[in-house]
Amino acid sequence: MRPDASAPAVVWSPIYEVDLGPHVFVTAKYRLAREQLLANTTLIEGDFVAPIPATRDELAGAHSDEFLSKVETDSLSFSERARLEVPLTGELREAMALSCGGTLLAARRALERGVAVHLGGGFHHAYAGHGEGFCLYNDIAVAVRALQAEGAIERVAVVDLDVHHGNGTAAIFADDDEVFTFSMHQQNNYPFVKPPSDLDIALEDGTADGEYLGLLETALTDVLGESMPELIVYLAGADPYVHDQLGGLSLTLEGLRRRDRMVLERAVERSVPIAVLMAGGYAHKLEDTVSIHVATVEEAVAEP
Ligand SMILES: [Zn+2]
Repeated sequence: MRPDASAPAVVWSPIYEVDLGPHVFVTAKYRLAREQLLANTTLIEGDFVAPIPATRDELAGAHSDEFLSKVETDSLSFSERARLEVPLTGELREAMALSCGGTLLAARRALERGVAVHLGGGFHHAYAGHGEGFCLYNDIAVAVRALQAEGAIERVAVVDLDVHHGNGTAAIFADDDEVFTFSMHQQNNYPFVKPPSDLDIALEDGTADGEYLGLLETALTDVLGESMPELIVYLAGADPYVHDQLGGLSLTLEGLRRRDRMVLERAVERSVPIAVLMAGGYAHKLEDTVSIHVATVEEAVAEP
């Protein structure tokens, strides 16, 4: 899929592995995916690049000053902490700021090289003024706003194929005509209040490969035609998988790989740079989540 012969870029940090205690969000998945990529593909250590944390100014491009101050001073209310559904520790803060930097780095690399992958990111439930659903900061919005602020890009399409609706991203960009938000998700699932994206496709429980891929093919034509993006930010969530603990769709491992290939091929066909993020993944068997993320990276770094 690489449009040029330069080395692939896979953004990753060991700091993404945060101790959350017993939790459905197993942060070891990022390290395990990297180990599998090193063992079973042509990727080498030098293909992985480490991000730096997003700065306060970069975070403030997507988040309110009040929220950032509360996080920094550890003064979120009990209900704000509960809504996060992950323990807010210094370790988590660091990992989340780094995830924002990682998505920004992947987006920059995509603009230079055509395709880049972030073995992390996709925290789409974070709003401007609060975090929720395992997401403290919205790395998608932080990265897009940073690149817009420096004049690198104007128009962006967010293609969010996590099983959960991209509520935070939709809300943050609700009044932004330059950013087209597209979410295809399971309707009967978290979040129960879904602020409208520019295009939402709400899927029935149990939607399987054939129907899913057919809908996606049509939607991508509409999204890219309407938004004419200079960058695609793609959330390749692993949780539409049939054996996901938090998802109720029925995609197979092969269906998810075909999904990734379809999005990547459309981007390359149209010469639109694409940054690929991992987002959710909570399969009953951890190795399945890892395999799905590995397949996503493989598709993104494959030769055209
Ligand atoms: Zn999800």
